[in-house]
Amino acid sequence: MHLLICGGTGCQAAGSLAVMNALRAEIAKQGLEEEIAVVETGCNGFCALGPVMVTYPEGIFYVNLEESDVAELVESHCKNGEPVERLLYKDPSTKKRIPHMRDIPFFALQRLIALKNRSMLDAESIDEYIGRGGYQGMAKALKEMSPEDIVAEVKKSGLRGRGGAGFPTGLKWEFCQKAVGDTKYVLCNADEGDPGAFMDRSILEADPHSVVEGMVIAAKAIGSHHGYVYCRAEYPLAVHRLQLAIDQAKQYGLLGENILDTGFDFDLRIYQGAGAFVCGEETALMRSIEGKRGMPRPRPPFPAQAGLWNKPTILNNVETWANIAQIITNGGDWYASIGTEGSKGTKVFALTGHVNNIGLVEVPMGTPLRTIIYEIGEGIPKKHRKFKAVQLGGPSGGCIPEEHLDTLCDYEDIAKAGAIMGSGGMIVMDDSTCMVDMARFFMEFVQDESCGKCTPCREGTRRMLQILEKITEGKGVPEDIDTLEELAEMIQQGSLCGLGQTGPNPVLSTLRYFRDEYMAHVVDKK
Ligand code: SF4
Repeated sequence: MHLLICGGTGCQAAGSLAVMNALRAEIAKQGLEEEIAVVETGCNGFCALGPVMVTYPEGIFYVNLEESDVAELVESHCKNGEPVERLLYKDPSTKKRIPHMRDIPFFALQRLIALKNRSMLDAESIDEYIGRGGYQGMAKALKEMSPEDIVAEVKKSGLRGRGGAGFPTGLKWEFCQKAVGDTKYVLCNADEGDPGAFMDRSILEADPHSVVEGMVIAAKAIGSHHGYVYCRAEYPLAVHRLQLAIDQAKQYGLLGENILDTGFDFDLRIYQGAGAFVCGEETALMRSIEGKRGMPRPRPPFPAQAGLWNKPTILNNVETWANIAQIITNGGDWYASIGTEGSKGTKVFALTGHVNNIGLVEVPMGTPLRTIIYEIGEGIPKKHRKFKAVQLGGPSGGCIPEEHLDTLCDYEDIAKAGAIMGSGGMIVMDDSTCMVDMARFFMEFVQDESCGKCTPCREGTRRMLQILEKITEGKGVPEDIDTLEELAEMIQQGSLCGLGQTGPNPVLSTLRYFRDEYMAHVVDKK
């Protein structure tokens, strides 16, 4: 039997390492080391119930573990085969015990591709990754496919960048493949910064080899021999596990010189960012790696032609990279068979806020918001409260109210509803939430993170924030709402980068759906 205990940041914060150590000690004390292995995995996804543990192969799901539970757990479950009921997840709607992970709605309705290995392996073991099919896609790409074949397969998959913009990944690679340059770069954007988002951190902590493997495949496709993962320094566990994965891949001949004896070389390094939100913008990220202040620059030229150190460069985010090896292994058609016409595959969301089941959710593109919030998330926690809205896309996104809960989670439908897919932040709000205050919160974030390079963003967001503060303090007038809309349009049109261009979105979407709340705040002095 294997006891898979979550060692993701969330569960560690809840005390999972102490529970794991106590489990190992108790198992040793009982002389069960030969029969039972305790494995520290990456993030399980059901973060609100940590520390969590899954038994393998049965798949029984334990929650809220404490050191004091360990003796009973080993005696009852490991020795006598009787699960400890009070520690098991229960279905709140039926009050029945659900012994298997697959029967729990939070897990049952998900489809895992990017999160395929979550809570299933020791994230610090390359052998376990290989044991679950890891590096097969890379071997296929390096030994059996031409660069053109790789790009064609990724194009066929329909994969679009999961960082927020949704640009077709294969097309981006094709531009870079065709670009002329003696040196090319492959970059991973792990500078996740949206409030409430932790998809990329979780993937790096749980399955870092999937990112390394995807990047090597891309390197072969475009003819690159150097890559960087730009990861924020606030993610120490992700940085640690990724560095370990890089070192192990080099030891196994899967990274570095003459990979798999194919004559192909690719070196990968981590660059730690200092936590500026704007460094998630691709040109700012590249300037930061170059050792300059992280500020966006105008495009064109686009990075595929002139990126890092003016060389052709491709940049994708962590989740995008985690899909690549499986696309190559299983084929682009397989991936394209999942999702909707314009949005293929799956998407990972960080489901949080006023919802019962908080954690990471991966679903096929096209899954209705209602399914995510009410079936996977199991609805709103407080019985006397009602759902009010869900914020998608963080500070660049927008809110979606109840009447649009049947919106499908794909790029097109979410945009039609007035939000954006973004990188996957999904914050649920009940009717205790003041939408004007929520908009003020995001505007404060954008204003604080504006790099100050261009006037519309620097000054415009400051002015919008002042007005929102005035309104939330009850000192606003109806004309302030018109000014907000005028400023929003000016900032969207006049800003250099995505931060400014999308920064007013939370204000605009709340004005679209909850204008009455703004009106209730302002004092008509006429
Ligand atoms: Fe900087 Fe804002 Fe201009 Fe982007 S839009 S370059 S964040 S000032």
